Amino acid sequence: MARHDVTLFGDALAASRLGERFAMLDPQALLRLAIEHLYAGRIALVSSFGADSAVLLHMVAAIDRATPVVFVDTRQLFPQTLTYRDALVAQLGLSHVITALPDERVLGAEDPENFLWASDPDRCCDIRKTAPLGQALQGYDAWITGRKQFQSATRAALPLFEAEGERVKINPLAGFDATAILAYIKAHDLPPHPLVAQNYPSIGCLPCTSPVKPGEDQRAGRWRGRGKVECGIHLGPLSAGADI
Ligand code: SF4
Repeated sequence: MARHDVTLFGDALAASRLGERFAMLDPQALLRLAIEHLYAGRIALVSSFGADSAVLLHMVAAIDRATPVVFVDTRQLFPQTLTYRDALVAQLGLSHVITALPDERVLGAEDPENFLWASDPDRCCDIRKTAPLGQALQGYDAWITGRKQFQSATRAALPLFEAEGERVKINPLAGFDATAILAYIKAHDLPPHPLVAQNYPSIGCLPCTSPVKPGEDQRAGRWRGRGKVECGIHLGPLSAGADI
């Protein structure tokens, strides 16, 4: 398939048609199609190395261990996440992990005490997550996320393909539920993130993540009580941080 056939330029309708066209594929087949054909050499997986990230990382490694994997280190992550990342990268043999970091000058100017999360979490996410990711994804035409419909009410209608500016976002696990995730982890004997056993089914930054109680959404522990449900990387086209 030629490059121009799958470049969507923000066309949500075209993204929806793409999703319908490949809806019959299982996640592994969809990933192979995207990595080897639709966006060969122009696609990256974005992973938080969080609670169930091992599933998508394992699927991608089975296709091509050299697939670029972008990891945003906000400098506010749980130390367990960094240890888990290193262990998973080694176990799966991932050879092209890109760590995206916040701009030190911006941190020095806007968050020198590392407490911006308390006064302005949206701005904190902007400078620690969204801008570094936008910078890291320059040069890619598509990126893969691990989001799933069952995670929260706000993700219930998550499609397989999204048009995001000039970039395409692919959500191969959109239809996976908790049972499917657990079955995959068990079938492939994948190691759990150490915080999962402490009731963290969704893991972000340390100051903004709390354990979840029985019956709550998986993401209920993210920004608990703050009226915030997403960090911003999924709320619109990513820039390279031009607004900072
Ligand atoms: S999740 Fe919290 S600490 Fe992390 S970047 Fe967003 S506001 Fe800052």
